[in-house]
Amino acid sequence: DIWQGIEFSQSKPQARVDGSTGVMFSDVAGIGEAVDELQELVRYLKNPELFDKMGIKPPHGVLLEGPPGCGKTLVAKAIAGEAGVPFYQMAGSEFVEVLVGVGSARIRDLFKRAKVNKPSVIFIDEIDALATRRQGIFRESSDQLYNAATQERETTLNQLLIELDGFDTGKGVIFLGATNRRDLLDPALLRPGRFDRKIRIRPPNAKGRLDILKVHARKVKLSDTVDLSSYANNLPGWSGAKLAQLLQEAALVAVRKSHSAILQSDMDDAVDRLTVGPKRVGIDLGHQGQCRRATTEVGTALTSHLLMRLENAKLERCDRVSIHPRGQTLSQVVFHRLDDESYMFERRPQLLHRLQVFLGGRAAEEVIYGRDTSQASVSYLADASWLARKIITVWNMENPMVVHGEPSPWRKKPKFVGPRLDFEGSLYDDYDLIEPPVNFKMDDEIARRTEELMRDMYGKTVALLRQHNAALLKTVKVLLNQKEITGEEIDFILDNYPPETPTSLVL
Ligand code: ADP
Repeated sequence: DIWQGIEFSQSKPQARVDGSTGVMFSDVAGIGEAVDELQELVRYLKNPELFDKMGIKPPHGVLLEGPPGCGKTLVAKAIAGEAGVPFYQMAGSEFVEVLVGVGSARIRDLFKRAKVNKPSVIFIDEIDALATRRQGIFRESSDQLYNAATQERETTLNQLLIELDGFDTGKGVIFLGATNRRDLLDPALLRPGRFDRKIRIRPPNAKGRLDILKVHARKVKLSDTVDLSSYANNLPGWSGAKLAQLLQEAALVAVRKSHSAILQSDMDDAVDRLTVGPKRVGIDLGHQGQCRRATTEVGTALTSHLLMRLENAKLERCDRVSIHPRGQTLSQVVFHRLDDESYMFERRPQLLHRLQVFLGGRAAEEVIYGRDTSQASVSYLADASWLARKIITVWNMENPMVVHGEPSPWRKKPKFVGPRLDFEGSLYDDYDLIEPPVNFKMDDEIARRTEELMRDMYGKTVALLRQHNAALLKTVKVLLNQKEITGEEIDFILDNYPPETPTSLVL
């Protein structure tokens, strides 16, 4: 055995130690009631003997689970910071080596050092890398290197289990593991006495996003005029890490523009940079191209505003339309998100209105150019047909379809398939097509109804925009001149160009 006699306990990399992480709970926001459970861990670390005397069993291991960037590492550091105890951190991947015995030596080493300096906190990030569910069937593999790696991982995992089982009461060490794929974890790790606490760190909701922005705003110079709550509302699905990055990016933009503090426009620029990418120079759509993009985008925005005015539709207002190419996109419409509850139980009228908004791009083209339509509106049409199909199948909102003896092709995603954003951020993501049973007759019926619904809605939208032809042309003109137009400007135009206004405007 060539490895014999080699001492691995000194093997690099070692755990990074941090006497005091300096992170406090006041640096963490938007994780809701999870804080209470974390406070209890701090209380334990501050006085392990008390827990011992009272006969309270301390937790062995605590599993922090949740999507990346939502503060699992931050929370672990805050526990150590609040308790004022040393923090030992390693990533699960650092234990995964092909060399036999290295991983388990590192585990032993980590726990030994933490115990010597107790009370203390051990934190292993991406614990799934080291504790993936063992896969019996692959043991037969003839690939020797693969076998060695698998076996090594198992030895490491076993060592971790031994250390966790060996945790006695009163030891004063808290072991925290973090994962965003709990479904991958070996069940042995989740048995009682190992990870006996599981704390979910969820992605922040609108209120949480605002609190997180406020935490990070302490570190930058923000002008008083910046309304953080509108960003919190409008950035669903954004993690704490992304929000922190937003303020950093905005600070950079402000410096670049020689502003003495971050302005609202710097924040907007930063959002665009982080979503679609920086403005691109040197790409010219040409006059025709710009006209088509402007028409499509204005058609979408205008349809939304018109439906809100005329039919009391519950839709998103347009914040601005831009035909500055940015990142991968040539133009964009930025809509202002409604509050979270509005997306909870969307009703049929609302969904049909939204369908009309998607169809508004092509409808505007048809109003202005007749049958001479272009590719500029196809991505909206794709969104429209996706939505129409969903209205008919998943939500079953046109004449309900009953399919005898067939399971519905649309089923709820099973739990743990990817992170679910608790409605936030994933407008319609919680359903997906899972292996539809083949039923050509039903497929035909769905296709027929989808087409019918789209045709109806498209007709309505064309008629609506045709009535407001003057406002449509005017808005497109202004957008072409300014390259950007705000929602207020659109409203102003709509106020001044009532329906059926004769127009001599041409593009
Ligand atoms: P995770 O471990 O869940 O992947 P991190 O804790 O590493 O996420 O988050 C990265 C950074 O993002 C943090 O250092 C912090 O600056 C910011 N951040 C993430 N979540 C939060 C939160 N809930 N509150 C405040 N800041 C956060």
